[in-house]
Amino acid sequence: MALPSAETLHRTSLKAGAKASVAGVEDAKSRSHAATREDPVAAILRVLREGERFLVCSHARPDGDAVGSMLAMGMLLDQMGKHADLVTADRVPAVYRGLPGADRIFHAQRIHGHYDAAILLECDGVERTRLRGLEEFPLINIDHHVTGRAFAALNWIDHKAVSVGEMVYRLVRAAGAKLTPEMAACLYTTLLTDTGGFLYGSVRASTFALARELVAAGADPVAIAHDVFFSVSPAKLLLLGIALRRLKRKGRLAWLWVTHQDMVRSCAAEEDCEGIVNVALGIAGVDVAIFLRELPEGLIRLSLRSRGNVNVAAVAARLGGGGHENAAGCTLSGPLPRAIEEIQSELRNAANMLTGRAG
Ligand code: 5GP
Ligand code: MN
Repeated sequence: MALPSAETLHRTSLKAGAKASVAGVEDAKSRSHAATREDPVAAILRVLREGERFLVCSHARPDGDAVGSMLAMGMLLDQMGKHADLVTADRVPAVYRGLPGADRIFHAQRIHGHYDAAILLECDGVERTRLRGLEEFPLINIDHHVTGRAFAALNWIDHKAVSVGEMVYRLVRAAGAKLTPEMAACLYTTLLTDTGGFLYGSVRASTFALARELVAAGADPVAIAHDVFFSVSPAKLLLLGIALRRLKRKGRLAWLWVTHQDMVRSCAAEEDCEGIVNVALGIAGVDVAIFLRELPEGLIRLSLRSRGNVNVAAVAARLGGGGHENAAGCTLSGPLPRAIEEIQSELRNAANMLTGRAG
């Protein structure tokens, strides 16, 4: 799969028959070549200023970046005097429900109503939202995945951003909006979660500069860390115990899994799987970790993590998924042993990961 450039602004004409319209996007058809290279931040702000009603969405199974960046985007639109509806296909995980405004995110399967544009955060396509009816609206795509794709009428993809929240922050600044304590808390959450607590390879000096600014603006780093990392449900601990008993290691690769039966037995929800893969990656000498979860219908969800220059996004993309170089995911056919064999073989091809003694 071809990877996009660090920042892409790509415009396509709107689908004929699209009910809603965004003046700025429609204008693009008649704009000069030079104008199509307009700064994506400026282009998005222009569309936001010209419209009235916006839908803000993110991917199914929303994570901290999805929730935090949606909420901050909603707050930006509020300040701009616009109407914003925030929607995801799955409910907000418990650890993020304390975020300011979290109760304004509602979950739905299909979108109804009139919007001037739908803003998709953290998605490489409409399918990733698992929401139906989005095709009706002009789409704005804001993403930071290396596997991000320019699928929308307006695309801003910056894989150097540590979170989509960082990109929303840039929008807030460029709009001249006020960085409120509530907005700062949401944006700080995106930084904290997408860097795994300022631990992952994407972290650099500018990440801390932004974190500093958000804390100065009113984000409470201790309270947020407490909510996100120290609010583990008993179900999650039970599930982690089951997964750890299944931990396998072969050289630099470690993997662990849970069956659907395990999920039921431990009363675990999807969100309780978050982070289990990182425990495996924490083993000394392990550079790639895989967590597999059997879905009720028999498909297998994979979470891939790596250290250093092993690009798991490329591996996930070859299997129909995507993500970041060091954190990616995909869905494979079952049963579990077949999926384990498939991912191991893909990794073997990619990076000769399976050399070394079995542990
Ligand atoms: P997780 O393992 O936490 O579910 O996902 C890790 C990263 O990979 C996240 O940034 C997530 O958005 C991305 N990712 C996970 N699964 C998929 C997938 O099926 N498709 C794409 N495009 N990205 C995914
Ligand atoms: Mn993200």
